[in-house]
Amino acid sequence: MTGKTRFGIIIHYSEIGLKGNNRKIFENQLIRNIREVLKDIGRFRIDRAYGRYLLHLKEEADWEAISERLSRVVGLANFALAEIVAQDVEAMKAAAWQQMSELTFDTFRVVTRRAQKNFPIPSMEVSRLVGSVIGERSGARAEMKTPDVSCYIEIVDNFALIYTRKLPGLRGLPPGTGERAISLLSSGIDSPVASWKIITRGVKVNFVHFHSMPYTSPAALTNTKRLVEILTKYQMTSRLYSVPFVAIQQAIMTTARPEYGVVLYRRSMIRIAETIARKERANALITGESIGQVASQTLANMRAISEPANLPVLRPLSGSNKEEIISIAREIGTFEISTEPYEDCCTLFIPRHPETRANLEIVHEAESKIDLESLEYQAVRETEVLRFKYPAVEEKPRKTTVHVPKQ
Ligand code: ATP
Ligand code: MG
Repeated sequence: MTGKTRFGIIIHYSEIGLKGNNRKIFENQLIRNIREVLKDIGRFRIDRAYGRYLLHLKEEADWEAISERLSRVVGLANFALAEIVAQDVEAMKAAAWQQMSELTFDTFRVVTRRAQKNFPIPSMEVSRLVGSVIGERSGARAEMKTPDVSCYIEIVDNFALIYTRKLPGLRGLPPGTGERAISLLSSGIDSPVASWKIITRGVKVNFVHFHSMPYTSPAALTNTKRLVEILTKYQMTSRLYSVPFVAIQQAIMTTARPEYGVVLYRRSMIRIAETIARKERANALITGESIGQVASQTLANMRAISEPANLPVLRPLSGSNKEEIISIAREIGTFEISTEPYEDCCTLFIPRHPETRANLEIVHEAESKIDLESLEYQAVRETEVLRFKYPAVEEKPRKTTVHVPKQ
């Protein structure tokens, strides 16, 4: 960025355009999220113009760093570094050619959008005028359908924006507009992806992790924290509730049939997660279960696992296959951490042959022999809460912060 050339980032947002009366709320939240995610890079003027945003850049702004941050803002359709010029065809031609001359191409097109209809020249005509300059100087051919490169011109407010490289946004709905859920987060591959999917639907997700320390290494918890750090990049703040689970596992293991272990652990997890959800005023729980992925993840077992829950248990991956899940995990950056070897709380206490069709009578009978209510109450009391913030990641362990009345 040199001389007096002015640059901005043109941002188009996605589904929020469809939200009718809620539109304003979503738009305001999206702007707040953009500012928040950029706050350690700089403060920017952001204008709204005809269903898009224009973020004004100062000369020294680091476009690469900004673009990396924007690529994780949920709710953006696409964004691009644009030159801001006067509403004057000669200025548009000059800026368009300046940008196109840095690219190599055999075919191109010019796409003009005139948001401000009082600009006197129709869009098609602007495209034709600018296109003929590019054609003459480059020798390339205009091609509307599948050109090598596109030059975009948007006429908004009192200027025109010229850009060539449109970067894809994450789409989805901006988080932070009110709805909350609690995700049961292990350090495996699935639950971070399940959580992420719900985050991209505009829901604020906080996390609960069950650990079996000191029987397992602290790695599962450490990795879970690293996963939350990554997921926080998509929603700016998160809380992680870390619940000691050993006492419950031991009680179940020593009393119940081994093949019912997994279902009984999960039911306890659900009850505890729901207690935390009440405190968080969350309206749903989330798990990473996927039908048939492992022997214990059958519909019959999911039914038994959901039974103690009053809140809906969302299983956003229930219909996904492992490849789809892994591909998202790689994209969002959780895969590497999720595949590090460690002992999970459940690998330690897991039966060799888990029941695939949990029978509710057997489940209830097994539970009646254990004082789960007080064990679960105790686990909640000993839960630690960790707080995460993005950009500035901050982790402050605080003990016994969950205060819930005994029911
Ligand atoms: P993941 O890849 O998410 O670990 P998984 O394929 O290993 O899932 P399970 O071990 O059967 O499947 O766990 C099913 C779901 O139960 C997980 O997706 C997660 O939501 C929850 N869960 C399992 N273990 C824990 C844990 N230690 N803490 C919190 N939630 C857990
Ligand atoms: Mg797992």
